[in-house]
Amino acid sequence: MNPFTAQASQLSRDEHLIALEDSEWDLIILGAGVAGAAAAILAARSGFRTLLVDAKSFPREKVCGGCLNRRAQAALERLGVLQQLHQAGAVPITSLHLKIDKTSVVWNIPTLLSVRRSTLDSELVRAAIDSGAFFLDSVSGLVVPRIDEQTSKERFRQVRLQNLTEPKGRRVNAFANCILVADGLTRSSLRLESGWTSTVQPSSRIGVQRMFSASQVSSVNSRGLFPANQLQMIVSKDGYVGISRTDGDLVDIAGAIDPKSIAKRGSIAKTVCGIIGDAKDGPLFAYEKPNGKPDSFPDDMPQDTSEDWLATPALTRSSTRVASDRVFLLGDSIGYIEPFTGEGMSWALASAEAVMPLVSKSIGSTWHDGLSREWMSWVDSQRRQKQKTCWWISRQLRRLSVAAWTLRLCNSLYPIRAALIKKVTS
Ligand SMILES: Cc1cc2nc3c(=O)[nH]c(=O)nc-3n(C[C@H](O)[C@H](O)[C@H](O)COP(=O)(O)OP(=O)(O)OC[C@H]3O[C@@H](n4cnc5c(N)ncnc54)[C@H](O)[C@@H]3O)c2cc1C
Repeated sequence: MNPFTAQASQLSRDEHLIALEDSEWDLIILGAGVAGAAAAILAARSGFRTLLVDAKSFPREKVCGGCLNRRAQAALERLGVLQQLHQAGAVPITSLHLKIDKTSVVWNIPTLLSVRRSTLDSELVRAAIDSGAFFLDSVSGLVVPRIDEQTSKERFRQVRLQNLTEPKGRRVNAFANCILVADGLTRSSLRLESGWTSTVQPSSRIGVQRMFSASQVSSVNSRGLFPANQLQMIVSKDGYVGISRTDGDLVDIAGAIDPKSIAKRGSIAKTVCGIIGDAKDGPLFAYEKPNGKPDSFPDDMPQDTSEDWLATPALTRSSTRVASDRVFLLGDSIGYIEPFTGEGMSWALASAEAVMPLVSKSIGSTWHDGLSREWMSWVDSQRRQKQKTCWWISRQLRRLSVAAWTLRLCNSLYPIRAALIKKVTS
C-alpha cells in the first residue's frame, strides 16, 4: 500500500473526504512540495491541527535539478530530515563543471547534496505525518472566496477539496483559521479568488526535466561523462541544462529552455541534446570512442520522446500580493526567476520557517492587514537580497559572449570566482 495514502488507512479517498466534510482546522496547506511539507512539519510540531493536501499521487517526481545548497541542507537538518536523505542515497556534489559557449571551467565547491524530489518530498511528508499533520495526496484544494453572510465563520476561510483519483471524484468543503498556498508556479488553488495576479515575464523560459537510470546511459557513463560528485551546467543560446547523479543510481537532467527553441527543434529531447551537443568540445565531451573517433553526447542518448520529459509553465513570474485575509503564499507561488543559481528549494524552506509566527498570530486572533504587510516586508527583503543577483545572472546568460567572457574573468580572478561559487552553493 502507498504509505502516503491518508496515513495508509483502508478508507478510500472519497470516504476520507466524506469524513472531512465541514471539518475545522487551524491550518490547511495546499501543496506538499518543499514549502508546504516543511510548513506542515513546523505547524504540527507547534500543536496546530494541520491538514496538508497535494493534487499529485505521492511519491511523485517534479521538475527540479534536486541540488540542495548549504542553506537548504541546514534547514532540512533543523527539520530533522537531512540524515534520512543521506540514508536514502543522496549524492554529495563537490565540483562544478560550468560550460558557457566554448568556455569551460571545473571548480571545487562546498558540498551540495543531490536528491530526487520524490525522495526529498516524501521524507518531508513522512516527517509531517509523524509530527501529527494529516496528509491526503491526489486531492486538490481550492480557496473559496468569502461570501458576506458567512459571519459565523468569520475566523475561518473555506477550502474546496476534490478527490482526483476519479474523473468525477467527490468534492467537500473544509474550513481553516489560516491557509498556506504552497502550490508552486501555477497557483491553481487561487483560481476562484480575485486580486492575486501573477506577472509572467513574456520572454520567460520553461523548466524541463528527466531522469535516466545510470544503466540507460551506461555507455556514456562508463567513459566518466557523469562523474558521481560533479554538477555539470551547460549554457547555450537555447537555454541551459544541469546534469547530476542522484539517489537511486539515477542521472537527473534538468534545464531552463526557451519555448521557441523547443518549437523550432521539434521536441524537448532534441533541444536538450542540442544544448549538450553545443558543448561537445569541452572536457565533458573530450573522450574517444573505442575506434578512436570523437563521440558526441546526443548519439549516446537513449531514444526518447518529449512525453518522457516533465515540463513547467513559464518560470519567471512574480506576485504583487503575498497575503490577504488569512491566506499566505509560500515558496514558488510567491514568484520565481530561473533555476541557474539553484536556490529555489532553500527559498521555499526559508519561507516555510519565516511564515510560522504569522500563522500563529492569524490562528489566535482576528485578521488585520498588518499581517499581510509583515509578510510582504519579509518577502521584499528576500527579493532584494537573494533574487536580485539571480535576476542579473539569468539576464547575462542570454548574452553568451558576455557570459563566456565573465566566466573567463571569474576563473582568473579568485575573489570573483569565490563570490560566484558562494552564490551558487550557500
Ligand atoms: C529546471 C529546474 C531546476 C531546478 N533546480 C533546482 C535545484 O537544483 N535546487 C533548488 O534548490 N531548486 C531548484 N529548482 C527550483 C525548485 O524546484 C522550486 O523552487 C521548488 O520546487 C519550490 O517548491 P514549492 O514547494 O514552492 O513548490 P513545488 O515544489 O512546485 O510544489 C507545489 C506542489 O503543489 C501541488 N499542487 C499544485 N496545485 C495544487 C492544488 N490546487 N491543490 C493541492 N496541491 C497542489 C503540486 O502537485 C506540487 O506537489 C529548479 C527549478 C527548475 C524549474
